[in-house]
Amino acid sequence: MECLGCRIANGIEPNLNIVYENELITCVLDIAPFNEGHTLILPKKHYRDVEEMESETAYAIMDAS
Ligand SMILES: [Zn+2]
Repeated sequence: MECLGCRIANGIEPNLNIVYENELITCVLDIAPFNEGHTLILPKKHYRDVEEMESETAYAIMDAS
């Protein structure tokens, strides 16, 4: 997997602070946070643009946020 976002979302990168995860998305604490609790919500499937995303994944992101 060459995309950093996908490697993080799929747990391939080391030292992740995962705060929530389901079959579609992973939420991790940012390694360089803008503020306390800065969390990234990443889809497990690779998308080049948000327009490519299925509504199921988009809703999962909104629910997690
Ligand atoms: Zn990717």
